[in-house]
Amino acid sequence: MSESERLFQRALQVAPGGVHSPVRAFRSVGGTPVFMTGGAGARLQDVDGRSYLDFCMAFGPLILGHAHAGVHAAVSAALARGWSLGTAEPYSLELAEFVIARVPWVQNLRFVNSGTEAVMSAQRVARAATGRSKILKFEGCYHGHADAMLLRAGSGLADAPLPDSAGLGALAASETVIAPLDDEAALAAVFERHGAQLACAIIEPLPANYGLLPQRDEFLRALAQHCQRHGALLLFDEVISGFRVGMQGYAAVAGITPDLVTYGKIIGGGFPVGAYGGRRELMQLVAPAGPVYQAGTLSANPVAMCAGLATLRALEEQGVHARLEQLGARLEQRLATIPNLLLQRVGSIFWACLTARGAAPAAGPVRSPARFPAGCAQRYAAIYHPLLARGIYLAPSAFEVGFISAAHTSADIDALADALTGLCATLES
Ligand code: PMP
Repeated sequence: MSESERLFQRALQVAPGGVHSPVRAFRSVGGTPVFMTGGAGARLQDVDGRSYLDFCMAFGPLILGHAHAGVHAAVSAALARGWSLGTAEPYSLELAEFVIARVPWVQNLRFVNSGTEAVMSAQRVARAATGRSKILKFEGCYHGHADAMLLRAGSGLADAPLPDSAGLGALAASETVIAPLDDEAALAAVFERHGAQLACAIIEPLPANYGLLPQRDEFLRALAQHCQRHGALLLFDEVISGFRVGMQGYAAVAGITPDLVTYGKIIGGGFPVGAYGGRRELMQLVAPAGPVYQAGTLSANPVAMCAGLATLRALEEQGVHARLEQLGARLEQRLATIPNLLLQRVGSIFWACLTARGAAPAAGPVRSPARFPAGCAQRYAAIYHPLLARGIYLAPSAFEVGFISAAHTSADIDALADALTGLCATLES
């Protein structure tokens, strides 16, 4: 028995499924989760003394790699000053100013502790600002685990049968309106029916929780126009795409200005941070400036704020996005000729979708879950443990995306490409 197996048996006694977030339990790929002791650069180290090239990168926050020296120094200095103050302090001020100076549609922002909280709070602002209660979300987009967002949500729920969760209040479902991605006609029909009651439409402008499903700019523009016409706010959830596809997130890539935006992951440099922001008059609705209550004991934790600021500064000063694009392009080029693998990629986010051998190649990118090739999850599970055996760690679910970090080298990309090429050839159907 390996040390990971021994630890998992103990973990099963103390935590539901042995884990503290469902995908970590390896249910989608089978077998025992690998227990990691730590990470450095592009590599993870497990409790059995094995090392892995990591392309999961803690599900996105670690854009600079594990234990980055600059972030480490900032965190160490913050620790030495005391790690929780519960007061006004200069660290969140610096991080907020840094973001606001770069993202014109974020004029005010509030830090919270997770992406889930950021989304819940931004929606509260939207409801207060509009006096309406319904929220439009898109099938396959994940926005954290608040009741109203656990409908057709992707991420750890991607292969769960409907409904997405037990224990949701009836109100949650009745207040959430669902529309499919990539379908302007359906979108128009939804706004026709519900537009006047919508407080906001929330979307991952680059959906990355049910595979990577890049949307056409025209679709996102249509959404923005419907919102404007019907007096609903547009909320971009950039928890994954924020600071990942560029300093201004996917909103800048698509050329669309949202009313509200949510961040998480990279903004905390790997520490628990979320944030929501938007136009000043909307954000001034939040307490104590306005009537929308939202608070947090550990909000704007100084260690987390310093980790986030060090991360964002390094991204900009070291030209990280350009280098990540090169690495991503290399991966795409290396995998382009594999007949049963469709690689969808935007910058340093990638999704390897395994198609049937001999099937006609998908015409253009897959943009909605309705177009997933049958059997892609089973094929992913079939190659997952062989990948681990070759020292490659990908997210343990076919529908989670992969992340390249600034710590990865061209040789690391080639190692992933070689492993995938070899293993795709072994798939029988
Ligand atoms: N929104 C998006 C787009 C996400 O990807 C996630 C998490 N993967 C969340 C919200 C929720 O963030 P958290 O897990 O920090 O609560």
